[in-house]
Amino acid sequence: MLIDNHNRKINYLRLAVTDRCNLRCNYCMPENGIDFSKSDTLFTIEELSRLSGILVSEGIDKIRITGGEPFVRKDLMVLLRNLSKMKGLKDISVTTNATLIGPYIDELKTLGIKNINVSMDAINRETFEKITRRDQYDIVHDNILRMITEGFNVRINFIALSGQNTQDILPMLELAKHYNVCVRYLEEMPFNGGSRHFEGNAWDYKRILSHIKEAYPNYVELPSEATSTSMNYKIPGFKGSFGVIPSFSRTFCGSCNRLRITATGDVITCLYAQPCMNIREILRGELSEQRVKEQILKAIGSRAKTGFEAQEQQKGKYTNSMTTIGG
Ligand code: SAM
Ligand code: SF4
Repeated sequence: MLIDNHNRKINYLRLAVTDRCNLRCNYCMPENGIDFSKSDTLFTIEELSRLSGILVSEGIDKIRITGGEPFVRKDLMVLLRNLSKMKGLKDISVTTNATLIGPYIDELKTLGIKNINVSMDAINRETFEKITRRDQYDIVHDNILRMITEGFNVRINFIALSGQNTQDILPMLELAKHYNVCVRYLEEMPFNGGSRHFEGNAWDYKRILSHIKEAYPNYVELPSEATSTSMNYKIPGFKGSFGVIPSFSRTFCGSCNRLRITATGDVITCLYAQPCMNIREILRGELSEQRVKEQILKAIGSRAKTGFEAQEQQKGKYTNSMTTIGG
């Protein structure tokens, strides 16, 4: 079992499979992208499967596949097939921009992978295209509706971006009125690879909630798991629900159960910290199973207690992009 130095059980791995992406969301990376990793520095699918197996044997029971955009990796389904056979792994989920997922929806369903988070930061086409800097609105919209109607547990991640999309907060919520979907509003974080100056959070979770409350004063809070990063709500008469994630306010660090590993093997024990080590060559070397376990235990044995502590340790400098970290 993986227990950190603050006695928190770590059972949730966020595994990035690539840092590449076919969109260029302006809160995530610059228009010309970042300095993407060379392919020989990325884990192969076989290595990602092996690494996952080692960590599942240590008590990881939930893996979220993320990126970059996971589906730019043509061999992603091989990893998902391998994960779906892993005993002890109770929950496999994927975070995607939903542009490339279409051909894989049937197989995902067959594999029992039904928890899909989709980033969609505007219901208005023009706003969506301005934010993503790409013309992919229809495909994203269609794939979201297809997954909802096929019974997937779809959660839409909407980052409240001051001056860009906050006029879409309520229109986006209309989706939850008509469909069984959860629309989750996130605070913006500073990890944009230099795409834009981060000025702090004009739209924090309290402001998002009070904006929604003005339109829907009768919403009620839903119970959430102790380790959940979102607070979730239901509006009477709505088929779906909504949530807020205080990703910048960081109210949830006390129950953090997460470990992040990037596509090149960087181990990140707090979103607001720098990677504490790289596991790739250890996985490629001798006695890899034993050494990976030792190194992961060492990494989680010196975690910052909160995101604020981690931020303090690195003096608040953020040059990295979420396409590398995985969200
Ligand atoms: N490409 C996929 C997607 O967009 O869903 C997966 C990777 S993306 C980096 C993972 C998550 O990070 C998405 O929900 C995205 O909205 C979020 N994200 C990216 N940059 C962010 C930022 N600066 N602040 C807050 N969330 C961010
Ligand atoms: Fe790509 Fe996701 Fe970053 Fe948007 S948020 S640029 S879809 S990795």
